[in-house]
Amino acid sequence: MTVLGNYIDGQRVASQSGREATVYNPATGEAIGKVALSSADETRAAIASAQTAFESWKKVSPLKRARILFKFKSLLEANESKIAAAISQEHGKVFSDAVGELTRGLEVVEFACGIPHLLKGEHSLNVGSGVDSYSLMQPLGVCAGISPFNFPAMVPMWMFPIAIACGNTFVMKPSEKDPTVPVLLAELLSEAGLPKGVFNIVNGDKESVDVLLMDERIQAVSFVGSTPIAEYIYATASAAGKRVQALGGAKNHMVVMPDADPEQVVNSLMGAAYGSAGERCMAISVAVCVGDEVADRLVNDLTQAIADMQVGPGTGQAVEPHMGPLVTREHADKVLDYINTGVNEGATLVVDGREFICKGHETGFFVGPTLFDHVMPGMRVYEEEIFGPVLCVVRVNTYQEAVKLVNSHEYGNGTAIFTRDGDTARQYSEDIQVGMVGINVPIPVPMAFHSFGGWKRSLFGPLHMHGPDGVRFYTRMKTITARWPTGIRAGAEFSMPTMK
Ligand code: NAD
Repeated sequence: MTVLGNYIDGQRVASQSGREATVYNPATGEAIGKVALSSADETRAAIASAQTAFESWKKVSPLKRARILFKFKSLLEANESKIAAAISQEHGKVFSDAVGELTRGLEVVEFACGIPHLLKGEHSLNVGSGVDSYSLMQPLGVCAGISPFNFPAMVPMWMFPIAIACGNTFVMKPSEKDPTVPVLLAELLSEAGLPKGVFNIVNGDKESVDVLLMDERIQAVSFVGSTPIAEYIYATASAAGKRVQALGGAKNHMVVMPDADPEQVVNSLMGAAYGSAGERCMAISVAVCVGDEVADRLVNDLTQAIADMQVGPGTGQAVEPHMGPLVTREHADKVLDYINTGVNEGATLVVDGREFICKGHETGFFVGPTLFDHVMPGMRVYEEEIFGPVLCVVRVNTYQEAVKLVNSHEYGNGTAIFTRDGDTARQYSEDIQVGMVGINVPIPVPMAFHSFGGWKRSLFGPLHMHGPDGVRFYTRMKTITARWPTGIRAGAEFSMPTMK
């Protein structure tokens, strides 16, 4: 079985750490490869390569950096099927969903191609007589990215295209569960003409991550993953003096108002709850129905729609299923435990995915779509992120109760409201303490030229991912105030300088 190593200094490098993790095909349950768990010294070697590359990369003009990204974008397009197949094979999501993820990552590359414009800074002529003021947006140095399993292409691409476009160099630590795609991306970057050492990959676990958090050569850390780890990353890297953005977990609520279009609601919820087997940080995992009538109809409609769902392997089927397996046996077992917990807590299990067997793929990590009704705050299935195909329906009586419920939850990543009333939707956008809001849009993931991020315990750090915040995160502003005297003037000035 091949062991995936690292990508350092423009080439694949085998790891000598002697530690490895197994990579599975979730659709069959088979081990399909191994990934190295790099040592601290191997991680330091990647940082050293990035540090050396920074000295020349920071001087490359933004236009030339952008041209490499334009080439990278066309290589991504040319390799779309290969990359999507690799995502599907290791993650388990269906092929079209893998293509969708790649497209959303590619859009960040497109945004980063505009870097000459994005780095223009500010300029004021004559802030005082003969004095000009202007800002420089300079790169930070070596930046690190640590990504989760659920978007092996898109989440790394939330980070490195903007970081390197801004003139930084990068060390990426992908998820050890589906590590193949980031290395493919690194090879395409090299093919596009990226100088060696500008983008490096270290495969590994906590040992590598801790080096990235503490090494003084790392200037900034971007993290996406679960909240306990996000909090650890934020606390540790901030204490070591680094700039940090750490995106965490979620429990996204969709509020369904009595005037919402029932067909639109059920169609939107099916995709948002069960697409990618619920392994999306923007998945809707709670439907908040305002009124019992809304809830009764929705639960009935969802039950019928779930009965028509196809669940199966992400590739190789004549008709593509709606969702695939979960990423690992361990994760599938965790989701099954949550379903048992929900039953024990007294929620009504309307559709039970526990016994689901995928014919021909009996050893795959499948859990069937699951629906709970009468879920209440305080239940673990309501409070905690399950990250699987489990949708909870919570019943409330009023809009105000719905808002209070959503605002009381510890997470604040995404939310949606379904209504035909513009006033209600507008009020919801203002009242709700969540970073990304959809109005009749179930998964309101901002486009690459806007920024992505949650509130509360879904994000640690002030700046969101990509878009304008991405450029701010990966640059350091310097403001120059300049006077070019026409002659040498005598005399020192001891009072606070003011513009004359
Ligand atoms: P995870 O937190 O287990 O792992 C994320 C990364 O952290 C991986 O690279 C992993 O190797 C590393 N890691 C794990 N344990 C560590 C430790 N003790 N010390 C240092 N590093 C460690 O997350 P996951 O299971 O891969 O991904 C799913 C989670 O990611 C969910 O909670 C999901 O909501 C979240 N997520 C959030 C967003 C967002 O935008 N907010 C996007 C995608 C995923």
